[in-house]
Amino acid sequence: LSDRLESAWKKLRGQDKISQSNIQDALREVRRALLEADVNLQVVKDFINDVETKAQGAEVISGVKPDQQFIKIVYDELLAVMGEENVPLAQAYNAPTVVLMAGLQGTGKTTATAKLALHLRKINRTCMMVATDVYRPAAIDQLITLGKQIDVPVFDMGSDGNPVEIARQGVERAKAEGIDTVIVDTAGRLFIDADMMAELASIKETVKPDEVLLVVDAMTGQEAASLTRTFHEQIGITGAILTKMDGDSRGGAALSVRRISGQPIKFIGVGEKVEALQPFYPDRMASRILGMGDVLTLVEKAQEEIDLADAEKMQEKILSAKFDFTDFLKQLRLLKNMGSLGGIMKMLPGMGKISDDQLKQGEVQLKRCEAMINSMTPKERRDPDLLASSPSRRRRVAGGSGYKEPDVSKLVSDFQRMRSMMQQMGQGNFPGMPGGMFG
Ligand code: GDP
Ligand code: MG
Repeated sequence: LSDRLESAWKKLRGQDKISQSNIQDALREVRRALLEADVNLQVVKDFINDVETKAQGAEVISGVKPDQQFIKIVYDELLAVMGEENVPLAQAYNAPTVVLMAGLQGTGKTTATAKLALHLRKINRTCMMVATDVYRPAAIDQLITLGKQIDVPVFDMGSDGNPVEIARQGVERAKAEGIDTVIVDTAGRLFIDADMMAELASIKETVKPDEVLLVVDAMTGQEAASLTRTFHEQIGITGAILTKMDGDSRGGAALSVRRISGQPIKFIGVGEKVEALQPFYPDRMASRILGMGDVLTLVEKAQEEIDLADAEKMQEKILSAKFDFTDFLKQLRLLKNMGSLGGIMKMLPGMGKISDDQLKQGEVQLKRCEAMINSMTPKERRDPDLLASSPSRRRRVAGGSGYKEPDVSKLVSDFQRMRSMMQQMGQGNFPGMPGGMFG
């Protein structure tokens, strides 16, 4: 058995290595894609340089061209730069959490303030919005109207007040009323100017926000970079909201903002309505920035091959007892992708003769497992013991997946048994594919 897997393995590992000369086309393609997505020119140059250096000498999996492998590396690096996972809004230990909105005029700050308040309200965090844009009376009315619409109180002192003082009193009020999060909307100018920066800085100094969110219009294109640099250097931002992503922008500003400030994009605005706010997901943005055309097809193709190679990492995990439900799910999906469950099962010890019926059962079993694992929290996936020791957790997972508590119970105990079995097998020369998972 292990001979057969061993040779399959060898086939997967290629001989080629990535070099300057064998990725010329891909380099050009990536540069074009990034520029078309409106990533700042300097950011594109630096980013590509970094990736190229990283990729030099990387082994190419056979069946994948060096170009394809390189694009996969680019995609991964895009993800890495953008932070892999969504970063939620901060929450202060002592309420209220204070969020300060910053950005140029017309980028969507006021709209984003209301969108954010609505988003928080939906997850049961009470909100207050503070109107400090005293320069345009209409701006205060705009926030008040939005506040009524989403049923969130607005603190304002009319257009005579001093923005710093309004912010200070607004936060005080929120504190007195036991509000969870107070969002301070601010004035913007059409261009960065010293007065605006000074005012923002002093609001920040006064209310000591937990978040300073730079609101960036995705259509800003190239300028998003210098804008971010100025705001980050002079004010210090903790994150950004990228608005107007419902337009044709491919969102290159996301990469610029992230590379330059090092701070995460937390949300994207996808329309004028107050509901039109979404959490920012780096993987979706990476795909959008790279473009959906040929490039992505290449990535996907490469991805499939590389996932197979992941089995090697999986083996290490198994041996070090770090194999968890997330890894398990990955393996299940891999099996599904490879289509022929039967072929694999036949390679496993003691499974020589398998009827079609048994095969079908195997497939059903896979689906069940997947549904139940999908209903687990990330913590439970990492630590199956949590489920083993808590009937209420198992009931929740059962409810979420449409199965019964004993099903979850069985999955957990099977998993634990399988894991310890794999570890024992692994003491020798265990090939990457865990065998006990067919239930
Ligand atoms: P502010 O000056 O930064 O406060 O910007 P506003 O919140 O007043 O928004 C300026 C304009 O952009 C308004 O017409 C908004 O309706 C519009 N807007 C804001 N966010 C979005 C968005 O995500 N998509 C679209 N299509 N329009 C938006
Ligand atoms: Mg405004």
